[in-house]
Amino acid sequence: MPYMKNWKRYTVTAALPYANGPVHIGHLAGCYLPSDIYVRYLRANKRDVLFVCGSDEHGVPITIKARKEGVSPQQIVDKYHEIMKQSFVDFGISFSIYSRTSSKTHHETASAFFKKMYDEGKFIEQETDQYYDEEVNQFLADRYIVGTCPKCGNENAYGDQCEKCGTSLSPTDLINPHSTLSGAKPVLRKTKNWFLPLDKLQPHIKAYLDEHKDWKVNVYGQCKSWLETGDGLQPRSMTRDLDWGIPVPVAGAEGKVLYVWFDAPIGYISNSIELLPNDWEKYWKDKDTRLIHFIGKDNIVFHCIIFPAMLMEHGEFIVADNVPANEFLNLEGDKISTSRNWAVWLHEYLEAFKDKQDELRYVLTSIAPETKDSEFTWKDYQARVNNELVAILGNLVNRVMVLTDKYFEGNVPDTKGCDDLQKFITEQREKVTQSIEEFRFREALSEVINVARHGNQLLSEKEPWKLIKTDKEQTGVILYDCLQIIANLGILCEPFLPFTSKKIFDMLQLDATAFSWKDIGRQDLVPAGHQLGKAALLYQKVEDEIIDAQIAKLQQTKAMSAPTPEPVKAEPTAKAEITYDDFAKLDLRAGTIIAAEKVEKADKLLKLTVDLGSETRTIVSGIAAHFAPEAIVGFQVCVVANLASRKLRGIESKGMILMADTADGKLEFVSPKNLTANGSMIS
Ligand SMILES: [Zn+2]
Repeated sequence: MPYMKNWKRYTVTAALPYANGPVHIGHLAGCYLPSDIYVRYLRANKRDVLFVCGSDEHGVPITIKARKEGVSPQQIVDKYHEIMKQSFVDFGISFSIYSRTSSKTHHETASAFFKKMYDEGKFIEQETDQYYDEEVNQFLADRYIVGTCPKCGNENAYGDQCEKCGTSLSPTDLINPHSTLSGAKPVLRKTKNWFLPLDKLQPHIKAYLDEHKDWKVNVYGQCKSWLETGDGLQPRSMTRDLDWGIPVPVAGAEGKVLYVWFDAPIGYISNSIELLPNDWEKYWKDKDTRLIHFIGKDNIVFHCIIFPAMLMEHGEFIVADNVPANEFLNLEGDKISTSRNWAVWLHEYLEAFKDKQDELRYVLTSIAPETKDSEFTWKDYQARVNNELVAILGNLVNRVMVLTDKYFEGNVPDTKGCDDLQKFITEQREKVTQSIEEFRFREALSEVINVARHGNQLLSEKEPWKLIKTDKEQTGVILYDCLQIIANLGILCEPFLPFTSKKIFDMLQLDATAFSWKDIGRQDLVPAGHQLGKAALLYQKVEDEIIDAQIAKLQQTKAMSAPTPEPVKAEPTAKAEITYDDFAKLDLRAGTIIAAEKVEKADKLLKLTVDLGSETRTIVSGIAAHFAPEAIVGFQVCVVANLASRKLRGIESKGMILMADTADGKLEFVSPKNLTANGSMIS
């Protein structure tokens, strides 16, 4: 296996997160936790490792978000760069550097990279027809063109994809295309761009992949299918007609920037330069350096084919020895989505679960989508924390600390312990080592927990709390061994649960930096006679209430995924004044939509079943154009309960749901901010 090779040093990269939203659990499970575990493990082995990441701040989605929010692209990336950076710090992701692709160093590095390839004739210059908006005088990126999908008739299909039927499109496929910048009908104009001839490079890429058949099956398989499907690899443009990004450093390329997938991966190199201006080259140019990219599966083609092709053509750099990409993490039965706000955001998690970073690190590693998509649910989170962290690891540490304090005044008993412990822990270390080296972090973590499980078994078999009455010396041997197990766990769990590891070493009053991975197995980590610190709980049980609140919050968000409202342009016309008595006639109540269906032959109507606590009502509501029926079930709303009933399309509707008009012409439910009992009065 390649990891057996005697590598001099490691360069580990984690995918550059895109600066158009905060970090969520899918990001963490996908590549930041695995890379952090791996790097912490390498450091525990005293290896030389550089761990690089940073915000990806170019590309069209950022310019679109900026237009939507009425701010500049720079303001968008400044905002999210800070939020993302803080989340990584909060969760202990131990980057050597976290920088950004809008930095000066990156602009210079990416620019020079392109220029060298350009000067050596590595690109093909090609003229193509591209849509141009004559009103705002600019070429239109695919996402800036909307039109009717030729496949399904959706009138809001984008130039690169119809989100309704999923078809990949070219802008020229669209019927009735128009620019989202001005609404104008775009015209085709000739434009020149520079293409990387991946078709000609295919033999080199194939040879590279053939040398790496040890890659994860999902990664290797996806690469092969890129090479083998249709005509294989095709030339890809490395420049774009856009005004946000790194200007193409070539005469005659005004108004063009580097393709975001050309500049972003170079960010790994520029961030290394930023951190180590005089010492970075050995991490990128020495053949004895092992380069590893941790990414999610949506980035496989860029990291396994396009970036290596760029590096090979540039000629000065090493290419990745492994790309352990993960599949996707889903959330409560649905795909995680930033635009639909269907996510658990890291900064929001910490508001509800203060100082519980390791609990999330633990659960996400236990369910990591290493070989196939996996799913996060709050109930599972609760079960894993309570049944594994609290009941196994936390319980062991707490019992041993308390008993040692009680029977030996917090001093490590004077004994050498029992013989077979060393063998057991050394074997466990080897299992964990092999699993980590082969990027099977779930398995590695479960072997760590098995060590704690062994300690608990020792306690329940030997029952020191009974034994102390007859044999203090033997009680000492058992507690001594358990203390060694805990100290070994302190080293073993560090890559996975760094906050826990620190707490363990603090309790044992040991200096964590004095130990390395090879010390795992030693039966004298805490020496006899050593004074221990105070026992403290590692974890707390997760109660139902806090989990129910998280589930309710997700249900609330489900239908409220409308985009950020723009400021209201005109005041709505005011109605005539009423007295309090007029208002008091309204019977307003909270109710939850428990079923929703379309009303036949009525485009605008949905038939809703609403739970009002003491009764269930049918309400027909004219909101079908705004909400899919399945998206609003579970949603708590405000109901006018005493409105006279009326028949709509033959259905008797009893009541009305309150709605708010948003500035962009959409509708939103008027809802209690926190869930309340159905039937509660609103006044
Ligand atoms: Zn379509």
